[in-house]
Amino acid sequence: MKKNRIVVLVDMDAFFASCEQQEKPFLRGKPVAVGGKNIVAACSYEAKAYGVKSGMSTYKAIEICPSLIVVPGDMEKYAFTSREIMKMLPDYTSEIEIFSVDEAFLDVTDTVKFWDNNPFNIAKDLRERIKRRFGINASVGISYNKLMAKLASFLAKPDGIKMIKRDDARNLLENLPVEKLSGIGQRLKKELNALGIVTCGELARFPVTILKKLFGQYGLLLHYMAMGEDSSAVKEAVPKNRSMGHSKTIPGGIEDKHTALIYLFRLCEMVGRKVRKSGMIGKTVSITIRYEDFFTFTRQITLSYYIESGEEIYEIAKGLFMQTDTLYRIRLLGVSLSGLVKASRQIRLKEDERGIRLRRAVDAINNRYDR
Ligand SMILES: [Mg+2]
Repeated sequence: MKKNRIVVLVDMDAFFASCEQQEKPFLRGKPVAVGGKNIVAACSYEAKAYGVKSGMSTYKAIEICPSLIVVPGDMEKYAFTSREIMKMLPDYTSEIEIFSVDEAFLDVTDTVKFWDNNPFNIAKDLRERIKRRFGINASVGISYNKLMAKLASFLAKPDGIKMIKRDDARNLLENLPVEKLSGIGQRLKKELNALGIVTCGELARFPVTILKKLFGQYGLLLHYMAMGEDSSAVKEAVPKNRSMGHSKTIPGGIEDKHTALIYLFRLCEMVGRKVRKSGMIGKTVSITIRYEDFFTFTRQITLSYYIESGEEIYEIAKGLFMQTDTLYRIRLLGVSLSGLVKASRQIRLKEDERGIRLRRAVDAINNRYDR
């Protein structure tokens, strides 16, 4: 493990909505929601200013923001833009982890010397290039590890750069609500709150033996996280996980295809991550759909080649999904990959080696920070 690391997290602002605004100039400067008839999947900063949030019902969103323009999501378009943006990253370092469709970590410890030893220069250059080429604002967090770089990028939003120095971390964390840390989701937040732990300062002082008893190894991790410590390396390998499917129950249900496809895309990304994490590749894609009347069915297809990426799984899953009719509200969506074999050099994937390496890098961080 390197000492005195410099980790940069670049995170696109309101990515899906920004892609739409970029493609359709009449949407610029306007409150835009990406989603469907029922649920807002993502929204522009102009919409956020009205209090619109992702996950909100479209009905409610329009109620609080009558000028809201709702556009259907187009995952292929976002994935394409994402790939184009990520192609710039090797100009700054070879140590890259793509965290999600719109976020990536860069370890610039060894390359910052080419930028006057100032990581701000990297952040500025990257932001300018993304803005110039794609018209998208990106926020950049800089810190001494991934956990704090992630926090810094959150504080940098929207459209800013923020650096958290090691010396300032303790102060910053003292009164910070625990759920602001990547890796502490709503469920964990509730459990911690129930223990009387609201801030990272309180979490850091909480007896670690009790945390371990309650949360196992994660309890120990939480203790260090609360102190701003995170030793995970960019590109770090992840532990095994044998489950190869994911499903999601959708509260209230959805009835329009575009929103369903957004859910499907996310599920596919999760499955792809899981599959690669275990070092497997697969050739059978299945989707499960449960309607509001609990009628459930599965569709599957077996390919003549192996796949492992969320995008590839999505391509297939989408095809299967589009064959189904959506007369009823969908209550649950599931995706899985089977026909699994150990990934090896002998088995040819459609992707090139570089793409695979990049994707594995993506997974490492996604897994580490999964909520
Ligand atoms: Mg983002």
